Amino acid sequence: MIRLNDILSLTKEELAAWLEAAGEKPFRAAQIFRWLHQKRVVGFDEMSDLSKPLRERLSAEFEIARIEPVRLLESKRDGTVKLLYRLPDGNHVETVLMSYEHGDSLCISTQAGCRMGCRFCASTIAGFKRNLTPGEILSQLYETERRTKRKVSSIVLMGIGEPLDNFDNVVKFLKILSSPDGENMSLRHVSLSTCGLVDRIYDLAELNLGLTLSISLHSPYDEKRSELMPINRRYPISELIKACRDYFAKTGRRISFEYALIDGENDSEADAKALCSLVSGMPSHVNIIPVNSIKERSYRSDRSAAQRFCKLLCSMGVNATVRRTLGADINAACGQLRREEEQPAK
Ligand code: SAH
Repeated sequence: MIRLNDILSLTKEELAAWLEAAGEKPFRAAQIFRWLHQKRVVGFDEMSDLSKPLRERLSAEFEIARIEPVRLLESKRDGTVKLLYRLPDGNHVETVLMSYEHGDSLCISTQAGCRMGCRFCASTIAGFKRNLTPGEILSQLYETERRTKRKVSSIVLMGIGEPLDNFDNVVKFLKILSSPDGENMSLRHVSLSTCGLVDRIYDLAELNLGLTLSISLHSPYDEKRSELMPINRRYPISELIKACRDYFAKTGRRISFEYALIDGENDSEADAKALCSLVSGMPSHVNIIPVNSIKERSYRSDRSAAQRFCKLLCSMGVNATVRRTLGADINAACGQLRREEEQPAK
């Protein structure tokens, strides 16, 4: 789905290969890369240390695609900013900037829509549209920094879409993001969240990129998990946990588990016990999030229930915390801004 002329989607090696094939000096790739990913120019004519003929060739061959913010909501309480971006083909994705003591963190989307079908999630209701290109994933960082004049110090791939269902483009995005001639972000500052595409978790472990793997678990029981997350029918919990252990063995990175607490679905003492035995002996962290209610479903929870469940887990020796609630005054659960934009209330 990468348009050949989408220059922000090319790794430095791909750019060098194009230059070489075009009879240009491959070392110019680093120069061009710095213009695109460090200075973040919007046009080739700004690349002042390149010859005019080369700039003309580049602009004949490539475009520096832009994504357009069509809505921006800013929390008065904690500085959280939610942005809705329109992609060049009219699809929309959401990006959220959150402020923490250790710096600003950006939650990025990897697909327009999603085909995983998790019951509680707004991003999947209208189905899957397409994969984002590496450039579109990166542009969420660049545009958000440009618009908000804030500096992002960490990234979570937890927006719309399933990152491991867009594996090649996400890996390419990570390569460009961590390139010394680009943003040069250490991938230790990146978390990738997955509903559990086990085969791809093994692939990711092989690459050993240094990022944190976050698993959306949401229930320790296959029956309940399959009801909440259809992907569990293909990759049951035992296989998922095996892949997590492999990820830790290969990368030395502890696994983070996401657990969206839902009243009467996954919040009993038996759930806590089963969750505890599932993660025991594995260096891990469990993040409890009270489920964000969406209007299409009746799932509910609240912070006090999350705190109670978390305490229970901690008393069993599980390393668990309740995720801070940010942007409560601009409350729109992930995927809801996009849904409003693409399907305005009749
Ligand atoms: N597809 C990936 C990443 C996107 S979702 C994944 O499944 O992990 C990011 C996180 O938000 C996941 O843990 C997901 O299960 C969770 N999530 C989705 N909808 C939610 C909701 N309504 N309330 C709480 N968490 C939700």
